[in-house]
Amino acid sequence: MIACPECGSKLTIADDVVQNEIVECESCGVELEVTNLTPLQVELAPEEQEDWGE
Ligand SMILES: [Zn+2]
Repeated sequence: MIACPECGSKLTIADDVVQNEIVECESCGVELEVTNLTPLQVELAPEEQEDWGE
């Protein structure tokens, strides 16, 4: 079992998750990137910066 780095809730991650997949914490909704599979590790996903070309 792995905990959300943002809120500490236990994360439910599918067995067929792949490296670099983005998963969402069900508790706080933060996006997490799978950085390692064995052992399973996640990090906060870098926020997409919308570039509106201002
Ligand atoms: Zn969370």
